[in-house]
Amino acid sequence: MPAAPENGCLPVVDPVPRIIPRSEHAISRKNIDREALKVLYRLRDAGHTAYLVGGGVRDLYLGKTPKDFDISTDARPGQLRKIFRNSRLIGRRFRLVQVFFPGGKIIEVSTFRRRNEYDEAGNGDSREAVLAADNTFGNPAEDAFRRDLTINALFYEIENFSIIDYTGGVDDLNRGIIRMIGDPDRRFARDPVRMLRVIRHAARNNFMVEEKTWLAMARHCQELTLCPVSRIRDEFFRDLHGSASQPWARLAMDSGIFVVLLPFYKKYLLDDAADTTRVRLLANLGIIDRIHGQGALLPDHLLLALLLLPWAKAELNLAAAPQKGPQAHQFSRLLRARIDEILVPLNISRAVKEVVALLLANLPLFEQEDRKGSEGGWPKWLKKKSYFKDCERFYRLLHEVDRSPQPLAPIDPELVNEITRPASRKSAKRRPSHRGSRGPAFASNSGGGIFGLKKR
Ligand code: ATP
Ligand code: MG
Repeated sequence: MPAAPENGCLPVVDPVPRIIPRSEHAISRKNIDREALKVLYRLRDAGHTAYLVGGGVRDLYLGKTPKDFDISTDARPGQLRKIFRNSRLIGRRFRLVQVFFPGGKIIEVSTFRRRNEYDEAGNGDSREAVLAADNTFGNPAEDAFRRDLTINALFYEIENFSIIDYTGGVDDLNRGIIRMIGDPDRRFARDPVRMLRVIRHAARNNFMVEEKTWLAMARHCQELTLCPVSRIRDEFFRDLHGSASQPWARLAMDSGIFVVLLPFYKKYLLDDAADTTRVRLLANLGIIDRIHGQGALLPDHLLLALLLLPWAKAELNLAAAPQKGPQAHQFSRLLRARIDEILVPLNISRAVKEVVALLLANLPLFEQEDRKGSEGGWPKWLKKKSYFKDCERFYRLLHEVDRSPQPLAPIDPELVNEITRPASRKSAKRRPSHRGSRGPAFASNSGGGIFGLKKR
């Protein structure tokens, strides 16, 4: 196996890949998308080298169903456009070709590259970077070494159906190891988001992070704050949605990444000897994973309410929050203001933050009413509140999990169906309406109701 070059992405002198023949791996053409195969064969017939690459090969090797099938080739973007008439070029500096198929399927084809965009000198819009763009194409070895993890750098070819492994990815897949290609310090400094990719793939596959990679994360995790908010936000939600947010959070906490992403948890995760907040957080993420494991997708406001609940308990003593009168109103405003403040790094929409605050502020009220155990269920006055449905679902979700705490037991499908349907009335995604139209169902600065809620 050739050693990875020290910087992980400079051209490599004639590295010899390990070839894993068809008889030694379980990837079958049957499991490869038909259109991806068509693209591979068409490129072969046009005289080009073309491989299935990246996450698709990794997932097929592990017996999972890949999310997407990406292809890399020695054909240049202009040649690709001629070979595939129904295609278009995307990307400004690193041009990809999207090939369209009937039914809306899109296969992305890229030309082998020398470097990853984040490893380019002068990454950004500098003149140096623009000049380098002409010089960006490379050979298959370079294309493998510019990738992030060894397990993400495998190629699958359709001549002999073998796997081509330049970086030791197959050994790492067999042993369950996540390893950054090249020098992790340098690769993380170039693109801190790679640290999120390390813990994502470790969590999803229940793999161990290799030692050098792990130690470098502790040195570089603070640099995540230098990345664009939109990128961090997208990556973060990818992990919350991925059905492995609980193991992800464990790794994020242990590596130091968690409190860089969510600094408001620092005090409670680092200082709390009893680990109460950590335990509560992991339990809530377990709920998220169970629901996503059932094929449903929790809306952002519920995801965030589950994520913030342990913080609200620790920071604002939520359980003892006033439920009536001006103090209740004041508490709600305080909670809303704090949520606004702490969610800045995740760039969450105002409407979603409002619902999150609403769910958290009213939770003690639902607990209190439930403890009374009145016959006939919730009191009429509560049922009439505009926030009743959302809050009741949130409460039931937490309660349901208390009743069936086994991590693998499915959560009542009816409840899941109810909570994952778009939020009642105004969807959480919608902005509050403008003046002159019907008022928002909840508004932080209007009077009435516990949370300044308007009855409808
Ligand atoms: P998923 O199943 O989540 O899609 P993936 O590995 O396919 O996982 P993508 O974001 O689709 O992830 O990226 C495709 C490929 O591009 C990766 O497998 C990896 O080889 C490469 N890659 C992605 N991000 C980076 C990065 N920041 N630095 C280097 N290589 C990267
Ligand atoms: Mg992918």
